[in-house]
Amino acid sequence: MTSATLSIDLGALVRNWQTLDAMSSGETGAVVKANGYGLGAPVVGRALLRAGVRSFFVATADEGNTLRGAIGQGPAIYVFSGHMAGDTAAMREAALTPLLNSVDQMLRHVEALPGHPFGIQLDSGMNRLGMEPAEWSAVRDIAVAQGPALVMSHLACADEPKHPMNAHQLAEFRAMTDGLDVPRSLAATGGTILGPEYHFDMTRPGIGLYGGLPFVDAEPVVTLDLPVIQVRDVAQGETVGYGNAWTAPRDARIATVSGGYADGLIRAMGPKATLYAGEVPCPVVGRVSMDLITADVTDVGHDPNDLQLMGQHQSVDTVADAAGTIGYEILTSLGLRYHRALVQ
Ligand SMILES: *Cc1c(COP(=O)(O)O)cnc(C)c1O
Repeated sequence: MTSATLSIDLGALVRNWQTLDAMSSGETGAVVKANGYGLGAPVVGRALLRAGVRSFFVATADEGNTLRGAIGQGPAIYVFSGHMAGDTAAMREAALTPLLNSVDQMLRHVEALPGHPFGIQLDSGMNRLGMEPAEWSAVRDIAVAQGPALVMSHLACADEPKHPMNAHQLAEFRAMTDGLDVPRSLAATGGTILGPEYHFDMTRPGIGLYGGLPFVDAEPVVTLDLPVIQVRDVAQGETVGYGNAWTAPRDARIATVSGGYADGLIRAMGPKATLYAGEVPCPVVGRVSMDLITADVTDVGHDPNDLQLMGQHQSVDTVADAAGTIGYEILTSLGLRYHRALVQ
């Protein structure tokens, strides 16, 4: 088999949810947008459902529809993009709960699906999604009278605990919602870690479930092993790969593995990335190609069968650093060619 193996540890995923749940003062939901951060929303959703999750969050109605098919009726599925034109049938048939972002969305929702559950997303300063304070005060009483399932907002800087934006957004959110008889949610993973004053009635972790920062105590969920296709001797002064980007500083043993930027192994990581043969780090040499990566295995002492990119020795965030990005992008870029193995 030449395809790489992506192992997804559902036990670690569930334990990460349980750890965050133990930190949270209210209910702990789960964000499974972008196909469960690239790991597969149906499998991730079912594992979290068995663990006790009763509120799921997705980005779009399409994602909600897919998730509903996987987890069945019962748990709430909230849709961050709200109720967009064309979403009505999915909202009704998959029993999705839109998080309405504007007065326009609210009008669309109550006209198209009177009596159907909804939540409200408020903008507390991030200026991305949600009703502005003035918009909210205009419709707040009508909205609250209909009993929204959730009123939420999102923090822009929760991964930086000392950032003054956190307290600022907390105060804005409180000013918009204090005294209202509605369930409230402000915290994603970062906000859950900031502390209980950010938790309200529901936390909504995403990345922490999947083993990513800012949840430093997360268990790794993803292991990625790339099979070695060929190993060769390269003499000092010879070059490897496109553009002759790497010149061997000594006689070297070079392994070519199956996996490249078409599999989400971002090309920019090349110069800084490391693969592992067991405990031995093997620097990536030359450019990452579409389907292949070359690594220096001289110090391994034998020709390995595969090299590991993510796992016990290297987290998704270390790989992200090498590529100049964040763990979220590494996970959601994971390609479709991997053999996906579920570990319970
Ligand atoms: C993606 C997202 C989350 C989850 O964020 P993490 O940082 O992955 O925990 C929560 N709420 C909203 C509105 C989001 O867009």
